[in-house]
Amino acid sequence: MNNSVQCRRLVGKTAIVTASTDGIGLGIAQRLGQEGANVVISSRKQKNVDAAVEKLKAKGLKVVGITCHVAKAEDRQKLQKLYEHAEATFGGIDILISNAATNPTMGAVLDCEESAWDKIFEVNVKASYLLAKEVLPYFNKKNGGKIIFVSSVGGYHPSELLGAYSVSKTALLGLTKAAAIQLAKDNIQVNCLAPGIVQTKFADALTSSEVARSEALFRIPLNRFGTPSDMGAAVAFLASDDANYITGETIVVAGGMASKL
Ligand code: NAP
Repeated sequence: MNNSVQCRRLVGKTAIVTASTDGIGLGIAQRLGQEGANVVISSRKQKNVDAAVEKLKAKGLKVVGITCHVAKAEDRQKLQKLYEHAEATFGGIDILISNAATNPTMGAVLDCEESAWDKIFEVNVKASYLLAKEVLPYFNKKNGGKIIFVSSVGGYHPSELLGAYSVSKTALLGLTKAAAIQLAKDNIQVNCLAPGIVQTKFADALTSSEVARSEALFRIPLNRFGTPSDMGAAVAFLASDDANYITGETIVVAGGMASKL
């Protein structure tokens, strides 16, 4: 993680980051906090939330946490209570980062079982749409806000091993465009991050064995895996006023891997 961040672009802002007790989400939460934001972190397990809150507080960051499985309506209601709490404590909500995803199956898209397909789309796409929809009243009270969805390079170039997951990530590119157009009049910018291969638990299969590592690195011109702080840096830019004239875009942070033109 990058501990030498000098920018303070998010002082006075409050950010909600889903799936943020580990991996990319934690890297994003840390960077937003380092830039001065109050950060609300969340994930499914209380012990992970407690550990991440402690870790970020130990770095002097302003952070609160709550459990939230993004695909459970009752958990999202809890998040809504937290939106209210964040509003009362920090004076409003300015930034939503929808980062949670699942991939319960490996294989080509049409080999995917219907139940796995439903789960992938429920967590990766439907929960992102619902979280964005549910945060709008809070943004409207502040006359604006930023939404950032976390997609993947797989959304541009479907991986054969991650067929259905890749399609769900393509859907987020479309959600970004459509919501950006709808919300432009409300001064809400909607953008997206497409990570390449980032060394987290999620990407274990691609990064843990020597054979898999060298095959994966072969596809990365910069010849290294991404880090959560690489992702945090791009998201902090999109969440800041420096990106006020950018909406409906996806930033690919993938070390030069094949993606869009
Ligand atoms: P990760 O390391 O596996 O992170 C998992 C985090 O998500 C943990 O905090 C976990 O905590 C939480 N989580 C898992 N399922 C959740 C759910 N249903 N609701 C709420 N929280 C949940 O994953 P990652 O690699 O950081 O991936 C983050 C995002 O980046 C995903 O959208 C993924 O598709 C995308 N991405 C990753 C890569 C990569 O190479 N790593 C590449 C492209 C895109 P709990 O267990 O406590 O819930």
